[in-house]
Amino acid sequence: MLETTIAGSLPKPSWLAEPEKLWAPWRYDGEDLWRAQCDAALVVLKEQENAGIDIVSDGEMFRQHFVHGVLRRIDGIDFERMTTMGIRADRYKAEVPTVTTALRRPTSIHGREVAFTRSQTTRKLKFTMPGPMTIVDTIADAHYGDRPALAMAFAEILNAEALELEALGVDVIQFDEPAFNVYMQEVATWGIEALERAARGLKCKTAVHICYGYGIQANLDWKDTLGDEWAQYRETFPVLADSAIDQVSLECANSKVPLELLGLLAGKDVLVGAIDVATDQVETPEQVAATIRAAMEYVPAERLYPCTNCGMVPLSRELSLAKLQALGAGAAIVRAEVGG
Ligand code: ZN
Repeated sequence: MLETTIAGSLPKPSWLAEPEKLWAPWRYDGEDLWRAQCDAALVVLKEQENAGIDIVSDGEMFRQHFVHGVLRRIDGIDFERMTTMGIRADRYKAEVPTVTTALRRPTSIHGREVAFTRSQTTRKLKFTMPGPMTIVDTIADAHYGDRPALAMAFAEILNAEALELEALGVDVIQFDEPAFNVYMQEVATWGIEALERAARGLKCKTAVHICYGYGIQANLDWKDTLGDEWAQYRETFPVLADSAIDQVSLECANSKVPLELLGLLAGKDVLVGAIDVATDQVETPEQVAATIRAAMEYVPAERLYPCTNCGMVPLSRELSLAKLQALGAGAAIVRAEVGG
């Protein structure tokens, strides 16, 4: 009960990529890079285990960008043809590659990484991939000419990949959909359908991570415009509750999401963000416990998984590790109280 997990990414060691930087360039290439990534994955698996994290991840040591890292091995995308465009409804500008022909997955995207990671831990393993709507929002399209059609094409590729990773022993496949609280209308009309297509036929746990983004300035500025109550989820949660996805990961620590909205997710597992990734302040275990207890007013303990608000890749390693330890210790406090 109250098994802990993380949203996904962790800081990369300074010998692998430039620290405290989003999308930092690698320090190696080719087979040297692969070896260094494996070593980094081993370190973060061990750190998670030591911190008491029950469902661990590779910390996204094998990818530079949470969307483009997945796209590099898909045919039909031209990384030479980069476009600068406003993403997440123009919240910030990003350099994105362009879809130029029909999409195809010629070979496994993450199989080698997952086989390695799976062989190195006996804990439950989570693997994260961007969801179809978020991919569509982070790429330029010169071929499909229609966002839902492009999303479905990506969903089919994600699904083939997810089925392969499940067969390799992944316990939870999570799709990251930060776009889900930007395009609420589209979530209902095609976003959820594309997400379900990506998860079709999976027998392992499926999760969707929706959030208000990393703790970078553009996101902090955007959050300031959202008012005293972040009610985006009021529209999204009922759609997710009706969906085939098992788990919903969202931010609760220091967020202005009204906790009673969690009641709209009845029947789903809820990954409650109890670690704020947008502050240098390390939570105390007692603060983490308080967030978990508050969520338990709306979600039964059996369905509640203490988690981080979002990925921790932009943080320093020391800070991230301290936050992991607080998460593990805070969950242990509540577990002892409820006899789990
Ligand atoms: Zn996030």
